[in-house]
Amino acid sequence: MTTLSTNTPTAELQAIDAAHHMHPFTHASQLNAKGARIITRAEGVWLNDSDGNRILDGMAGLWCVNVGYGREELVDAAARQMRELPFYNTFFQTSHVPAIALAQRLAELAPGDLNHVFYAGSGSEANDTNLRLVRTYWAEKGQPQKQWVISRWNAYHGSTVGAGSLGGMKGMHAQGGMPIPGIAYIDQPYWWGEGGDKTPEEFGLERARQLEAKILELGPENVAAFIAEPVQGAGGVIIPPETYWPEIQRIVDQYGILLIADEVISGFGRTGHWFGSQAMGIKPHIMTVAKGLSSGYQPIGASILCDEVAEVVGNCEFNHGYTYSGHPVACAVALENLRILEDEGIVDRVRDETGPYLKERFESLTDHPLVGEARIIGMMGSIALTPDKASRAPFAAEAGTAGYITRERCFNNNLIMRHVGDRMIISPPLVIAKSEIDTLIERAWKSLDEAHAKLKDEGLMKAGRPS
Ligand SMILES: *Cc1c(COP(=O)(O)O)cnc(C)c1O
Repeated sequence: MTTLSTNTPTAELQAIDAAHHMHPFTHASQLNAKGARIITRAEGVWLNDSDGNRILDGMAGLWCVNVGYGREELVDAAARQMRELPFYNTFFQTSHVPAIALAQRLAELAPGDLNHVFYAGSGSEANDTNLRLVRTYWAEKGQPQKQWVISRWNAYHGSTVGAGSLGGMKGMHAQGGMPIPGIAYIDQPYWWGEGGDKTPEEFGLERARQLEAKILELGPENVAAFIAEPVQGAGGVIIPPETYWPEIQRIVDQYGILLIADEVISGFGRTGHWFGSQAMGIKPHIMTVAKGLSSGYQPIGASILCDEVAEVVGNCEFNHGYTYSGHPVACAVALENLRILEDEGIVDRVRDETGPYLKERFESLTDHPLVGEARIIGMMGSIALTPDKASRAPFAAEAGTAGYITRERCFNNNLIMRHVGDRMIISPPLVIAKSEIDTLIERAWKSLDEAHAKLKDEGLMKAGRPS
């Protein structure tokens, strides 16, 4: 067997990758025919691949590398912790300094009385925890029939069986017997795609009131919680109309159900606030965090619980946990990552300086003939590709065709921008500089030009059914 390194020829790495490595959310035979792009190193907002390209990472990995690549402080924090205590569990009446210190810090940062941290290894695991937590909470309060959790179509809450069921991705549900029972779905507040003739404000209220209707249909005495991302991420960076969240808050308050804010993307500065709940003005009982918590340098997630939920669940033995709940190395790295975010004023800079600059530049993309709308909050944004701006029409071609072509052009122009259907999304590292924002927009524009030309050539600039 040869020893592989970043000096191994790309084709050889691709062949071995194809032979032995199965990728997440990937059509394996299609990828293997083409060969994966091999990323070798990274610095700041820049990735290098094995062919010598320098790529601007407009997605911060998977929405997670908030402080950027190459932070030596995080490397040192991990090495220090590995030398001192690489692992110990927190199951059997033991604890350790990194888990304690990070819990204290998260309790300080999280709004209101969200003061109690249950650790997981990922966002998916934390949402599995939440599903069990909210049901346990109501059972302990003498209402074990309160089992239903309401979620939204096109929400993303992770990929385990529990989290995948909590999410509303139909393509995921179609495989492997999901969703599990006890989860109900309402429609998403996606005005551009689904708002028809209504104003965004009317539409936001209408979609929020689906929650009330669903609670009444299931019976308020049977509903445990509503879970939602403050801003949908994987669903296409869908920023709800302004009327949406206040109405949701009214409904959860009125019917006394728990609100779970999935902050896996929106947490730790992504929206220009520490948490998306603050940006949206909502008061969750539980927050899910992961991704930006460690800037992706270590796998870690957590559920952050309010006093009341923690107290009630604390009255029983909660038969749940992961070997790596509160992993000391992951906690030490997360703690150092939070220090960097705070000491370098990164969240404030996104809110006051680079975020507004990115917004202005990003919104200028609506001048492009292929772009219908641009929506952005902090450093998560998306544009809608459309054959007809005025009617907000989708393409006649299968959804995602234009998005895929545009993503390919971006890739070719050394810009990572993802597509969700025919929306293009960005979520760059929060440390992106103004000059790098300029580069991002220039490359996006060039890629849109090329995609537009190709769509025209192939006769794909045709409108489908009006939205
Ligand atoms: C990524 C994501 C998750 C799942 O996190 P993993 O660490 O991939 O398990 C959950 N919720 C949201 C909103 C996410 O974006």
